[in-house]
Amino acid sequence: MTSRTELESVLSGMVQGVLVVDVNQRLVSLNDAAARLLEIKNDNDVIGKPYEDVIEREDLRSVISSALASDVPVEANIIISYEVGSDVAGMEQVASERFFRLQDTRLYDVDGNRTGTMVLMQDVTRLRQLEVVRRDFVSNVSHEIKTPITAVKAAVETVMADMNLLPEHDQRFLEIIARQADRLQNIVEDLLVLARLEEVGGDKPQLDREMGCVSDVVMTAVDACHLQAEQKDTKVFVNCGEDYRVMMNPLLLEQAVLNLLTNAIKYSSAGSEVFIDVELCDQDVCIKVKDHGPGISEEHLPRIFERFYRTDKARSRELGGTGLGLSIVKHIVTAHGGRATVMSRVVEPTGSEFVISIPLHVSD
Ligand code: ADP
Repeated sequence: MTSRTELESVLSGMVQGVLVVDVNQRLVSLNDAAARLLEIKNDNDVIGKPYEDVIEREDLRSVISSALASDVPVEANIIISYEVGSDVAGMEQVASERFFRLQDTRLYDVDGNRTGTMVLMQDVTRLRQLEVVRRDFVSNVSHEIKTPITAVKAAVETVMADMNLLPEHDQRFLEIIARQADRLQNIVEDLLVLARLEEVGGDKPQLDREMGCVSDVVMTAVDACHLQAEQKDTKVFVNCGEDYRVMMNPLLLEQAVLNLLTNAIKYSSAGSEVFIDVELCDQDVCIKVKDHGPGISEEHLPRIFERFYRTDKARSRELGGTGLGLSIVKHIVTAHGGRATVMSRVVEPTGSEFVISIPLHVSD
C-alpha cells in the first residue's frame, strides 16, 4: 500500500470526522465520517472546490475560516440537528441534536510554510448527556436535602431557645447538631450556586451581565466581611486605582471577591493584614487579594480550585469551610470570560495572592 492510500484508509476508518482545507480555501480531503455527519456526498466532485461551496453550515465555515487565519489552535462546539424519523402521528419529522467538538491542527510543508488546516469533528453528544445528568443530579439532591436541613435547624433552634433548662450534656449535643446543620446548609447552598453556574454556557443562555464598576463590587465585598475582619482583628487595605468598568454580573462577582477575602481573613492568624488591589493588567482588570497567612504549598496549587479540595480538611472544617469556595470563584470568573489564579509562599514571608482577571473590553 502506498503511504497515500494507507492514510486514506486510516482516515476513512475513523469515527471522527476529518476535513482538510488548504490556504487557498479549497477542500483537500474529507473522510467518510465527516461526509456522513455533514450530509455531503463524498466524491471527486467536492474535492478541490472552495470549502464555502461545499459546506452549507455557517458555524462550521466560520470555524474553518478562523482556523485558517489563526496561528494558535482553534476549538469550538457546534450542534447539528438531524431528521431521524416521523413522530407518532407520522406527520412530522423528528429532529435529534448531536453535539460536536471541533479542533483544528495547522498544517505546514517541509519548509515550514503553512499549507492549510485539518479540522477534527468529534461527536461529544454522549458526554454532554452524562454531564447534564450529573449536573441535574447534584442540583436535585441539593434541593431535596435543603428541606430536611431547614426542618432540623428550626427544631434545634426551638429547643435551644430554652437551653438553660437542659442538662449540660444535652446542651453540648444540641450545639453539635446546630453546628453540623449549619455546615450541611452551607454545603448545599454552595452546591446549588455551582449547579446554577454550570448551566451557563450549557443549554442555558449566557450569564446576565451589565456594565459595572469593579471598585463598587470590591467595596461591597469588603463591607460584607467587615464583621469577620473585626472579630479576627484583621485590617483590610483597599486600593482600587481607577474606576474600571467591565461587563459583569455584580452579585456573582461580589461573591467571588468575598470568597477570596473570607479565605484570606480565615486562614491568616489574628491581627493580620489583607490587601486588595484593583489594577489593569494588559486587557484585563485584575482584582488581587493578598494575605500574610500560612500560604499553600506548591503540590496543592494545581488542584486548589477543584471542588472539595482542601489542603487541610480538619482545619477547613473547624473554620466552617465547605471546600467549595474557590471552585465557585473559578466558575464565576470563567462565566465572565476571565481567569482565577494563585501564587503562594509557605516559607517566610508566607502568604497567598489570589487574582481574578476579567476582560476590560468584551465583544458582546
Ligand atoms: P474552604 O471552604 O475549605 O475554605 P475553599 O475552596 O475556599 O474551601 O478553599 C480550598 C482550600 O484552599 C482551603 O481549605 C485551604 O486549604 C486553601 N486556601 C484557600 N484560601 C487560602 C488562603 N488565603 N490561605 C491559605 N490557604 C487557603
